[in-house]
Amino acid sequence: MINDLIKRWIRPEVQAINAYHVADAEGLIKLDAMENPFTWPNELRDDWARLIRDTDVNRYPDPQAQELTARLRDCMQIPQSAGVLLGNGSDEIIQMLALALGGEGRTVLSVEPSFVMYRMIASFSGLNYVGVPLRANDFSLDEEALMAAIEEHEPALLFLAYPNNPSGNLFDTTVIERIIRAMPGLVIIDEAYAPFTDATFMPRIGEFDNMVVMRTVSKMGLAGLRLGLLAGPQAWIEQIDKTRLPYNINVLTQLSADFALRHKAVFDAQTESIRTMRGYLMRSFEAMEGIEPFPSDANFILLKTPDGKATAIFESLKEQGVLIKKLHGSHPMLTDCLRVTVGTSEENSAMVTAFEQALGDTL
Ligand code: PMP
Repeated sequence: MINDLIKRWIRPEVQAINAYHVADAEGLIKLDAMENPFTWPNELRDDWARLIRDTDVNRYPDPQAQELTARLRDCMQIPQSAGVLLGNGSDEIIQMLALALGGEGRTVLSVEPSFVMYRMIASFSGLNYVGVPLRANDFSLDEEALMAAIEEHEPALLFLAYPNNPSGNLFDTTVIERIIRAMPGLVIIDEAYAPFTDATFMPRIGEFDNMVVMRTVSKMGLAGLRLGLLAGPQAWIEQIDKTRLPYNINVLTQLSADFALRHKAVFDAQTESIRTMRGYLMRSFEAMEGIEPFPSDANFILLKTPDGKATAIFESLKEQGVLIKKLHGSHPMLTDCLRVTVGTSEENSAMVTAFEQALGDTL
């Protein structure tokens, strides 16, 4: 009975998609979700706890999160003239964009493989989704194919993750510029992994009429707070902000993110150390027979493993207590691929040892 009701009333595009899957990491070294592995030093915890102790939650939060927004402008070097809106994670901002620029017959364009929420949100928002494959050898942009898709579909939105997830690479800036100029709709440069690269479009806001930059505090070490932002020309931001639910950034997130960003040096030191360990991990993988690591400007590394071995390696790592991400099976271009997030140096060493063991067992 319920099934009949569901069939009749849940929108077909919602019925068709699989829910976003989060693996159970209980008891495992967690290197699957691009989190910062470091927690806070004790003195920071104490100051934070005192702040929370003196905070009331009987009132709604500041709807514009003004103090936090000012702090983010400063920390992320957002141009003065740009508008900024905040989201409950950048995931929520993707949804706002789909609401603001969506509608029957409109198209969301992205590249494949990339962040799966672009496709998911487009699908359940009733938009067409077009994913143009990246080049198979190095996951670079296929400019010709993108231009053809732009001409054919006249997309309302184009999402480009820069660096890209799950491949870890940056795309060629001059190609991106030509694509922004060719796009009829809005181009979102998703800089979720900004803490791990020097490349950014942030200072270029205003140079194009149709480009905005999305950021998150998740990867720098605040994933639990759920906070993302969109920066771009004021006129765009004002319109998109109309789709934001009131009070979407709760009191505790506003307070905690503002507090954390006052101590940004702590997080900068952590992300710097992640960058260094990324180099160490890259060299470890390069030395492993049959493993091809792809260059990364993010806090994770994509690995191609020997034919047909990805599942066995993934399972062996799990048995040895290490959780990474199995991408094999999720997209044809990710056949035999696994993704490893950079952890603490102890976690990385344990993972490398387990990986070598897994390779030895499966080959
Ligand atoms: N963009 C990209 C490219 C991502 O990889 C992710 C998270 N995996 C997000 C956005 C979402 O980030 P948030 O935690 O801010 O929702």
